[in-house]
Amino acid sequence: MSLIVTGSIGIDTVITPAGRADKILGGSCTYFAAAASFFTAVRIVGAVGEDFPREFLKVFEHFKVDTAGLEIRKGAKTFSWTGKYHDNMNDRDTLEVQPNVLAEALPPVPGTYRDSQYIFLANTHPGAQMELLSQFPSRKLVVADTMDLWIKTANAELLALLKQIDGLVLNDSEAYLLTGEKNLVKAARKVVGMGPKFVVIKKGEHGCLLEHREGRAMLPAFPIAEVIDPTGAGDSFAGGMMGHLAASGDLGLANLRKALALGAVVASFNVEAFSLGKLEKIKRADIDERFGQYLQMLAMAG
Ligand code: AMP
Repeated sequence: MSLIVTGSIGIDTVITPAGRADKILGGSCTYFAAAASFFTAVRIVGAVGEDFPREFLKVFEHFKVDTAGLEIRKGAKTFSWTGKYHDNMNDRDTLEVQPNVLAEALPPVPGTYRDSQYIFLANTHPGAQMELLSQFPSRKLVVADTMDLWIKTANAELLALLKQIDGLVLNDSEAYLLTGEKNLVKAARKVVGMGPKFVVIKKGEHGCLLEHREGRAMLPAFPIAEVIDPTGAGDSFAGGMMGHLAASGDLGLANLRKALALGAVVASFNVEAFSLGKLEKIKRADIDERFGQYLQMLAMAG
């Protein structure tokens, strides 16, 4: 079933203990779309500026992402972000962020996207997330991501958004900031009390907690020895999860758990190279093979 995403499409400069990459393709929407494309057709809505390198468009072509909703806006500059990771590869500092075109209105949603039923609001201003959401009254599933910046600077809009969505994905530190709690379970319960049916709290390499109105799950990350660049791990995790949900059409708790496990597997590939470098090299069969290893890792006597 049709999956649509809005979020940032940007130019990143990333410094990690494993190296540095300048002016590479990044953005929450980008990582999400590439990851989800292994499971289902993906449509993107977003704008970039005139400076957006044309070779980056080929990456979207590689993943067969529908770019009818991607606008190269005249006179505008592309969103850009520079981040530096700590030695633990989990924490990072934003050295520079230029919202540029991300602070402007979204492009119009193409008519061919109107039947989209699965919506992912990747990390961007909650106002833009709400703007896209309001155009799909007959949606089947809406999940959003957010970050500390929006929790601090657009809190009222974010709280309003939470009442409109089915699921929220965010990091543990962001969940603590949003709820004022210091315990993972308490924070998760509080988020569900704010509106969504479920929340997925990501703990980087330590996996994630799913708190659902009907139950709870705790899933590990797929362990990787050679992490090169964790950027986009959260977005590719969400892409794998939403891609599977949209492809299967099953929104039950058991299938949601499977979706999270597939998300963890896709994210584990993503961190093995800068930008989309690793995801461009793999096929769906590689994901399925690693998913088998993931299940084996969790196998235990009943
Ligand atoms: P993740 O590592 O999953 O949190 O996603 C990293 C991506 O998010 C990078 O490629 C950045 O371009 C993008 N990003 C960083 N800050 C922001 C922001 N304030 N709004 C939207 N996207 C952002």
